[in-house]
Amino acid sequence: MSLYLDYNATAPLCEEAKQVMLEGMAYVGNASSVHQFGRQARRKIEQARLEVADFFNVRPAGIVFTSGATEANHLALCGFEGDVIISAIEHDSVDQARQDRVVCPVDSQGIIDLTVLEALLQDKRGAVMVSVMAANNETGVIQPLDQVVSLAKRYGAFVHCDAAQAIGRLPLTWEGIDLISLSAHKLGAPQGVGALVMRSDVPLKAQLRGGGQERSFRSGTENFLGILGFAAALNAARAQDWGPVQILRDTLEARLKTRCPEAVFLGKEAPRLPNTALIAMKGVKGATQVMKFDLSGIALSAGAACASGKVKPSRVLRAMGVPEAVADCSIRVSLGLTNPPDLIDRFLGAWMDIYENVRPH
Ligand code: PMP
Repeated sequence: MSLYLDYNATAPLCEEAKQVMLEGMAYVGNASSVHQFGRQARRKIEQARLEVADFFNVRPAGIVFTSGATEANHLALCGFEGDVIISAIEHDSVDQARQDRVVCPVDSQGIIDLTVLEALLQDKRGAVMVSVMAANNETGVIQPLDQVVSLAKRYGAFVHCDAAQAIGRLPLTWEGIDLISLSAHKLGAPQGVGALVMRSDVPLKAQLRGGGQERSFRSGTENFLGILGFAAALNAARAQDWGPVQILRDTLEARLKTRCPEAVFLGKEAPRLPNTALIAMKGVKGATQVMKFDLSGIALSAGAACASGKVKPSRVLRAMGVPEAVADCSIRVSLGLTNPPDLIDRFLGAWMDIYENVRPH
């Protein structure tokens, strides 16, 4: 049996999402149509919106369904008519949304430098948005959102948070955060759907114009099945316990360290997502390791999974000051909620095989 250790790339469809989507397939109407078929579809979407809004304790009107976090990030940042400050470890879809963004550095563990953030905020005049992710997709490192929020509020700035990796996996209050980007497939919903959660009235300009769906913030016929699956997966996430996953991840790291003291664990000194480990084996490129693991039936990735096959130096690790020889030789292990009992043994077996037979001695 193959072993899937790439949950930060995408999680398998959960049963709850699958069930509501199967039922949803019987629906015919476009939710914008006024006839009974359209109204039925509309009711389902609005019920899903209510459930997503309830999760974030916002009004239903505060949920704008999108095609995922990439689009939500673009709506938040490109739709904002003011200056944008982002952290140096944001996902590419935040980093590349606005050419004029100002980038705030991070420390060696990948945590935003709050002193520099304050200096950047002091420098700004007019409307400002600070965009800091909840947890990083490559390292799993969690950002001090409370402190980011209190700094931003002191200077009258809005706060946007890309929570694509944190949602369902971290207990967050979202206190003081104005905008949250989500990608449903990271939590067991289908790919190609997500949302921008508006927790306050940030003035935003639509990026997709046309039919006026989603209160004109995002035109385009809604992803009916995706939205139903999204709400179901989010509801299911309320009851999930990631504690055992964290123990498994920590045990995997500890046992690897014992077997192979040379293994480097990146971002390990910082608070991290319970399911993520970024591990370097100096001397063997991440891409080579991924292929070798794949041949052993283990699916994982080298840092961030971008367009398939694309392996580029990690901007995140560079920002953390990780030497290239380490950064280029790292792999990301990201676990899900259910894991086979022999996961660690199989991982260690494949790792040691590469370490002993592929690494140049
Ligand atoms: N932000 C983060 C932190 C992510 O991990 C991802 C997915 N890798 C995205 C944004 C983009 O999500 P999507 O591709 O579903 O739009």
